[in-house]
Amino acid sequence: MVRILDGKELSKKIRDDVARRVESLSTKPVLAIVLATKDESAKAYTGVIIKASEKAGIDAVLHDIGEKAGHDEIMAKVKTLANDKNTHGIIIQTPVSDDFDIDEARSLIPLEKDIDGANPLSAGRLFSGLESFAPATAQAVIEMINSHDIGVSGKNAVIIGRSRIVGKPVAHLLLNMDATVTICHSATKDLPSFTKEADILVVAAGKTGLIGKEHISPDKGVAVIDIGTNFNESGKLVGDVKYDEVERVAGAITPVPGGVGPVTTAILLKNTLEACLNQTGQRG
Ligand code: NAD
Repeated sequence: MVRILDGKELSKKIRDDVARRVESLSTKPVLAIVLATKDESAKAYTGVIIKASEKAGIDAVLHDIGEKAGHDEIMAKVKTLANDKNTHGIIIQTPVSDDFDIDEARSLIPLEKDIDGANPLSAGRLFSGLESFAPATAQAVIEMINSHDIGVSGKNAVIIGRSRIVGKPVAHLLLNMDATVTICHSATKDLPSFTKEADILVVAAGKTGLIGKEHISPDKGVAVIDIGTNFNESGKLVGDVKYDEVERVAGAITPVPGGVGPVTTAILLKNTLEACLNQTGQRG
C-alpha cells in the first residue's frame, strides 16, 4: 500500500510550532518581500506567504516596487533592506525584468537574512557543507523525507532537474545526508534507466506527466517527491508525475497540490524566525 506524504499536515505542524515560538518573543520576526513583476502567480504566491506569516505572528512587509522597476530601483531597495536592522529576512520574488541580472540583487542579501538561500554565497556554503540557509523548496523536500522517516544514508537518490533553486540544492542536501546522488536533466539519455534504480526520486523538471509507471521499479518501494507545479488544459494544478499510475507502483508519493508546496511556505516562516533569533540574540 502506497504511503501518501501529506504536505498540508506537515506544513501546519511547522507553522504552529513557529507561531508558538514567536509568541514568546519581544521582537517579532520581520520578513521583507521585494516584488517587481506583473507575473500573476508570483503575486498570488506573495499573498500566500503574507497570509501564512500573519497567522504565525511574523510581520511580512511587501515592497511592491512595480513591474517597471529597473536595475537601480531593485538594487536600491535590496540595499536599504540589507542595512535595516529591523528586517530579519529578505526574499526577492521572480521573475523580474529580463534585462536585469537577478544575481546582482541576490548577492546584496546578507547571508544572515538570506532565508531562501538565494545569495550565490549561500549556495557556495551549502556546496561546501557549511551552515547556510538552503533554498526553501530544497529544505522542504528534506523535511518531507525526515518527517516521514524515509531513510537516506546509503540510498540511491535520483534528482530530475539541475536548477540552482531546486535540483542542485536538493542534491547537495541529500549528499550531505550520505545518499548516493544522481542528477538527471534535459540532456539525460534513457531517463528510466536512472529512475528505476532510485530509492528516493525527486522530480523538479516543470514538465506535466514526465514521470510515469515505466520510470519505476515496482519492487523498489521508491519514495517519489514531486516538486513540479504545472497547470493542465483545464487549469488544474498538477505535478511532473502521473500520480494515478505511479501511486500504484511506488512505496510513497507526494500529492500535487498538497505536497512540497505548502511545506516550502512553512520553511520560509521557520527560516525567518531562525534569522530573527540569530540577529536579535533572543535565542533562549
Ligand atoms: P527550471 O526550469 O529552472 O529547471 C528545470 C530542470 O528540469 C532543468 O534543470 C532541466 O534540465 C530539467 N528538465 C527539463 N525537462 C526535462 C526532461 N524532459 N527530462 C529530464 N530533465 C528535464 O525549473 P525549477 O525552477 O527548478 O522548477 C522546477 C519545477 O518545480 C517547476 O514546475 C516549478 O514550478 C516547480 N517549483 C515548485 C516549488 C514548490 O515549492 N512546490 C518551488 C520551486 C519550483
